[in-house]
Formats: sequence, structure tokens, C-alpha cells
Amino acid sequence: MSVLPASGRAADCAQLEINLKAIAENYQRIKRHYQGRTCAAVVKADAYGLGAQAIVPVLKKQGCRLFFVAQANEAADLFPLLRGGGRIAVLNGLMPGDEEFFIENDVIPVLNDLGQIERWSNLCRKYERPAPAFIHLDTGMNRLGLSPRDMEELVDRNSSLLYGFEKAGYMTHPASADIPDDPFTRTQFDLFMKSYRRLPPAPRGFCNSSAIFRNPEYHLEFCRPGYALWGGNPTPEKENPMRAVVTLKARILQLRQIDTGESVGYGASWHAGRPSRIATIAAGYADGWLRSLSNAGKLRISGVTTPMVGRVSMDAFGIDVTDIPEGKLSPGDMISLIGKDTTIDDIGVMAGSIGYEILTSLGQRYQRVYTEN
Ligand SMILES: *Cc1c(COP(=O)(O)O)cnc(C)c1O
Repeated sequence: MSVLPASGRAADCAQLEINLKAIAENYQRIKRHYQGRTCAAVVKADAYGLGAQAIVPVLKKQGCRLFFVAQANEAADLFPLLRGGGRIAVLNGLMPGDEEFFIENDVIPVLNDLGQIERWSNLCRKYERPAPAFIHLDTGMNRLGLSPRDMEELVDRNSSLLYGFEKAGYMTHPASADIPDDPFTRTQFDLFMKSYRRLPPAPRGFCNSSAIFRNPEYHLEFCRPGYALWGGNPTPEKENPMRAVVTLKARILQLRQIDTGESVGYGASWHAGRPSRIATIAAGYADGWLRSLSNAGKLRISGVTTPMVGRVSMDAFGIDVTDIPEGKLSPGDMISLIGKDTTIDDIGVMAGSIGYEILTSLGQRYQRVYTEN
């Protein structure tokens, strides 16, 4: 006797909906704001967890021809999608031993130090082909890229290295562009412009999603948005100029009535202050519903603001639905966790994190549905 139903599959407990049309619109919105210059797309970490295989063709159709990933193997996953147009650049740089992979597959490295520049330059000589590479200048993030001192050394003593390959562009990464009027953004920009003056001419890129919306002066020749494409708010202090992309729904597994003083969840961290009705929802930290959301926020259900109660466990968490009229909710109902009422940015704030971490944490257990409306 089979233990599986005839179809071999049961209904899903949660659904992650990704609106491809909204992504296309967001790309066009950024492009319009950016006045039509080269608008790349950052699709690292599987397009921030939303699925690069589905998303890259959509962006390509919108005219995007340059895609940034973090790791070389993320680039390899995109090769089949980019036949007939589109290049991939790797932000993590040129790891020793990867040189052949890059040049043979036409992948563009983002060169982050003098050693990488030297290896790329030598490789291009060996292949007798001036293959393109970006050069990353670190202007204060102190994460990746040439320090101002490396830059001086390059220009003063090793400048011949700069002429062995095609410079796809120079880039730097702003650390604080999400904060309005943060003077550090201007400091980094000025340092970038000053450094650039001593280099052979090539396109320049300063902007991530937030910097695009801060100051047109920052725009230069190319930009690298990621988060805003997925509907994240690049200007958190203002209304979101982007269209929402992600909807997350999960089922009510159970509804229970508890008495005043009873607790909910691991560690008995929440106690009912009144007789309460608790809905157990089918999403947990294994699904990227971060444990820091325990007792931390509210969700709108049936037009009522309801607090999340108790610790988030691996597969489930609780919501106090006492204020929703009895009979309105039933086990099996899908409720909205991320959507119109609660954005990825909202969840980020509730979790003491950012929407970026929420997106990239969304687990593989959700049924992923791609829509186009
Ligand atoms: C991730 C990343 C981006 C994209 O940033 P968003 O804030 O998601 O737009 C751009 N440039 C670099 C170097 C990055 O690492």
C-alpha cells in the first residue's frame, strides 16, 4: 500500500510569488531615472534569492546586457541564459587558478588588487587578446578593491599593467548611500573622481540602488542596482519609488484558544495577557522567517493588525488573532506574510535587520511561483 496520495504530492504550506513584470518595470524605472545610460543588474546570490534562472532572461529582454554576480561559479550558472547577448562580471575578483575560466568563457573579472591586475594583464598577453576587466577602487568601504595607496603604486610604478587589457570600467562601492545626506557618500565620490583622473579613460560606475536615487551627479556612465530591482526601497526615509515584486503567503496550520497566563512557543517567551486565540503559521527560520522576528512585529490579517507571539521555530510561528472575529480564519487558509501591507523593508526592520537579508534568506521550501501581471 502506498503512503503517498495518488498525485504523489500534497498541497504546499507556503507560497513565494515573484512578479517578473514588476521586475521589468523596476528596471525601466531605474533606467528612466538614470537617463538611459548603461544600467547593469546585480544578480548575485541567485538574484538575491529570487531565482536568477527566471529573472535574468526578463532583464535581458528589457535591454540589460551586463550582469554582476559575486562568485565565478554563479557566472557559470548563467552561461546558458546569455547566449546571443549579455556579459557577466564577477565582483569577488580573480581568484588564483581561475584565470583560464574567465578568459575562455568571456567572463569579466572585477580586479580588486595589484596582483589580480598583474595576472590579468599577463594572461591577456599570453592569449594575445586584450580581454575586458573592471578595476575596483576602494574609497572607504575597506572591503574589496584597490586602496588609494595601491592606486598610487599602480599609476606611478606599474602603469604598463594598465594597458594590456580592455578596461570595461572603474567602479567603487558606496557604503552609506541608503542614509539620506550622509556626508560619507560625497567623500567616497570625491575620492573616486580624484583617483580616476590619473587613470586611462574608461566608463565609471559609483551607484548601487540607493546612490542612483541620491544625486544625479553620482550617475556617471554605468550603475549597478540590485535591491531596487526586487522592489526594495532604495530611499528608506521616503516612499518607495519601486514596485513590489515579492508576495509570501503561508497556511494557518492550527488555531487554538488559550487562557490568560499560558505561554506560546519555545522558551515560553510570551504569555497571554487575556484569553487569546493563536494561529500557528507554516513558516519558520528554516524558511528565512528569521528567529529575530520572535515577538518582534505585527502583520495585517483580514484588515486587523495582529502581533506575532512566541519564538519563531524551525517550521512555524504564532500570531495572536484574538481581535479577528471568530470564524473568519480556518486551518488551511493562506495568510499574507509579505505583500501589500507588509513589505520586505518592514520585515527587515522588525527583524532588526534589512530587507536584503530577508530576501536572501527566503528558503527553498516555498513553492516558487513566477507571475507576469
Ligand atoms: C551588491 C552590490 C551592488 C548592488 O547593491 P544594491 O544595494 O543591492 O543595489 C552593487 N555593487 C556592488 C559592488 C555590490 O557588492
